[in-house]
Amino acid sequence: MTTLIVDDDPFVIKLLTRQLTSLGVTGIDGQTDSSAALTAIADHLSAITLLFCDLQMPGVDGIEIVRHLATLGYRGGLVLISGEDARILNSASELARVLKLNVLTALQKPITVAHLADVLTRLAAMPTGTPPAPRAPRRSYQGDDIAQALTRGDIIVHAQPQVSFADRHLVGVEMLARWLHPQDGLVFPDQFIAEAEAAGLMDGFTQSVLQASLRAAAGWAALGLHPQISVNISMDNLISIGLVAMVETELNRVGVPASQLTLEVTESRVMQNEAAALDVLLRLRLKRIGLSIDDFGTGHSSLAQLRDLPFSELKIDRGFVHGASHDPARGALCSASMRMARELGLSVVAEGVEDQNDWDYARLVGCDIAQGYFVARPMPPEKLPAWLTDWNAQR
Ligand SMILES: [Mg+2]
Repeated sequence: MTTLIVDDDPFVIKLLTRQLTSLGVTGIDGQTDSSAALTAIADHLSAITLLFCDLQMPGVDGIEIVRHLATLGYRGGLVLISGEDARILNSASELARVLKLNVLTALQKPITVAHLADVLTRLAAMPTGTPPAPRAPRRSYQGDDIAQALTRGDIIVHAQPQVSFADRHLVGVEMLARWLHPQDGLVFPDQFIAEAEAAGLMDGFTQSVLQASLRAAAGWAALGLHPQISVNISMDNLISIGLVAMVETELNRVGVPASQLTLEVTESRVMQNEAAALDVLLRLRLKRIGLSIDDFGTGHSSLAQLRDLPFSELKIDRGFVHGASHDPARGALCSASMRMARELGLSVVAEGVEDQNDWDYARLVGCDIAQGYFVARPMPPEKLPAWLTDWNAQR
């Protein structure tokens, strides 16, 4: 077993080490430099069973470490420590729990041996074989299968409506890829996207999805419907040379105006490759294509990074919207994201609006647009007009 203590105060590390040793704990490591700690955590992830993390540190702070732990899929026990008031500690541990980390407890300094004895009891009681990291891909499909699906045109799209909080009118639709598999039926992207990326198929995949989405848009336009069309693109697409030209060609082919298209990029991925993505993002934006930062709250963007990237919209991740009304940590993240977006002049989509409470809360904090089961589930494009008639009848 390895225990890691991350605290910028060497005295705290020394004291905790002595106290833990007196309780029979061996293999204790301390780290005063938080960015060096991040590297150590990434390198020894599976060996670390217990991690103490101070919240206030210069440079990389405790909250950033918590986010990294979640991204890495850390499965050991976590103890948050702080000299600050209990409220900050509580909301930090709520955040860590939302991110599915095993938070044993949150301790206010000074820490006593009795506190640590309690930590060890909780650690021993922690269920082993806890669920794997949430984003572990299910590798049930091979690159060859996906390549074949692309050739055969088996990749289709479903449309999920987005409506305005202010007057409930239809603003846009997110086009979600589905694989109409000859044996397995409708296969969702989380079951094959990782494989498609690994096989270098994302350019072809995104082009198929874009084509299907724009065909749907042209069909709706013939009925007088012109919702904003949101299509997810991957980081692979953004750093490939041909994206801008491909998007323009497809728009021209169906006669959909560039300003009716929004491309969504996942926050965590774009921030890892900020420099590489920037010029493509700028060129897309110059052509009046909307750019949306997707799953916001799951990465760790700073206001400065966001300001440097030419986004027009921000989508708050479902994890910080659904249930936010009765969960202070989610609520805090939701409203903090809102303030950030306002400062940057971005329009804000709340994802995961699944019930009346989510709707009321996201509306209250000032989100512009709602997406989620409370509005509608994703549907085949041809069903959208009928759904809209029903929806408008209820308005
Ligand atoms: Mg999306």
